[in-house]
Amino acid sequence: MRPVTERDIRASFINCSKGEIKRLNLPKDFTDSPWEDLDFLGWRDPGAPERAYLVAERDGGLVGIALRVTSSASRGFTSRSMCSLCLTTHTSGGVALMTARRTGEAGRQGNSVGQYLCTDLACSLYVRGKKEAPGHGVIDESLTPAEKAARTQANLLTFLDKVAG
Ligand SMILES: [Zn+2]
Repeated sequence: MRPVTERDIRASFINCSKGEIKRLNLPKDFTDSPWEDLDFLGWRDPGAPERAYLVAERDGGLVGIALRVTSSASRGFTSRSMCSLCLTTHTSGGVALMTARRTGEAGRQGNSVGQYLCTDLACSLYVRGKKEAPGHGVIDESLTPAEKAARTQANLLTFLDKVAG
């Protein structure tokens, strides 16, 4: 994705109030993000770990989603969980259920969409082999990094549609 500014980011959120947008904390060094390796900018709120955000490019603009981290996918030592965006498998704690409030009337009625996501939201780096899941969690598959990135982007757009749908 192309580099974005704090202003771009704060203007991109579709599922939270102006007050929430004002209060959210950006990642400390986000201006140094490896933009060319990112399908989206994702981070946990440094001041509120139960909150997470992702900002993605869509149709030439930016779409930001606020997420609530509800739980770790599994507590078992040996069990593995898979991120629904990048399909990286992690051992305990590496994947969490995150919910996004839907936009519009559905959101006002309390509807949300849940997805299991990498808890560090570094999906883009996992699919490109720039970051390794602890326990060598990436499934050995025949797709190239570019193909995995394309699949991650497709999964992301589906998720954004569910939030905004
Ligand atoms: Zn992921």
